Amino acid sequence: MPFVRQWLAERYAAPVLADLVDPAGVEVAVVGGGAPAGADEMDALPDLRAIVNFGVGYDNVDVEEARRRGIVVSNTPDVLTDAVADLAAFLVVDVLRGFTAADRFVRSGAWARGQQPPLTRDVRGAAVGVLGLGRIGTAAAERLEAFGAVVHYHSRSPKDVAWTYHSSPVGLAAASDVLVVLVPGGAGTDGLVGTAVLEALGPEGHLVNVARGSVVDEDALVAALEEGRIAGAGLDVFADEPHVPAALLGRDDVVLLPHVGSATTETREAMGRLVLDNVDSFLERGVLVTPVG
Ligand code: NDP
Repeated sequence: MPFVRQWLAERYAAPVLADLVDPAGVEVAVVGGGAPAGADEMDALPDLRAIVNFGVGYDNVDVEEARRRGIVVSNTPDVLTDAVADLAAFLVVDVLRGFTAADRFVRSGAWARGQQPPLTRDVRGAAVGVLGLGRIGTAAAERLEAFGAVVHYHSRSPKDVAWTYHSSPVGLAAASDVLVVLVPGGAGTDGLVGTAVLEALGPEGHLVNVARGSVVDEDALVAALEEGRIAGAGLDVFADEPHVPAALLGRDDVVLLPHVGSATTETREAMGRLVLDNVDSFLERGVLVTPVG
């Protein structure tokens, strides 16, 4: 987010942390790219009063520790919902229709050699399970419904929607042709999608993860793919970014993206403006525009 850094430098002469000579007096820290903001970082900034996170997911911030110290935290909800929902819906369509695999097929010369790509599956009529029906999950479900998919979902509580609710991730996976993960990262969802959920998804089922790598047990995913216990996956996020498990790189039944859910110029600028609004509001009035918790 170089432009946000530039805006902050122009507006507040704010230094980047690496260039900070004297940490005393720093009241607001802007955190981007999932950089950690835990007890160590808070210790290093003794006068910190607010953490402004560039991103809607704030599993990189130790919110409990911040609260304990009287430090408030904000994120960037809503402004990225459409871009991320587009990606989630795209990955669902892609794991069913195999478009990016077909692109690789053309580039490999296989088509020119007279081979035919395999037949794929209709999106219309496919059961799509949204794990985490929040802002992005709802927007993704609306898009997929327009494609003719049948939407199911699980959140910790049912929502006021017409889609079919399942009271557990395993139950949702069992009812889904494609399971789309859109819960927040963090301790509450660590490894939520493990062997049991993948077993329930089954050999014809696909997993799409646009949430956080930590939500999916990556070893269990690799094993399920290698043993044919699920059919394929579309992944935008990984446990140890930017490292992708080597076992996934050569597989044609997985689609791999470099965490690009919100990566459009318009969306990143809107996120940057909301970051600035939070900084301005906190410094002028002592309140954040989009606080978390
Ligand atoms: P929301 O908070 O609006 O939605 C999250 C939903 O998950 C809530 O509706 C919540 O419902 C549900 N949920 C939370 N914990 C659990 C749980 N343990 N089990 C089941 N459901 C749960 O967030 P957004 O939709 O705005 O964002 C979702 C996530 O998407 C972000 O936190 C971020 O990690 C990820 N993201 C990824 C991006 C990318 O580039 N790939 C970009 C932006 C976001 P309930 O409380 O009823 O359980």
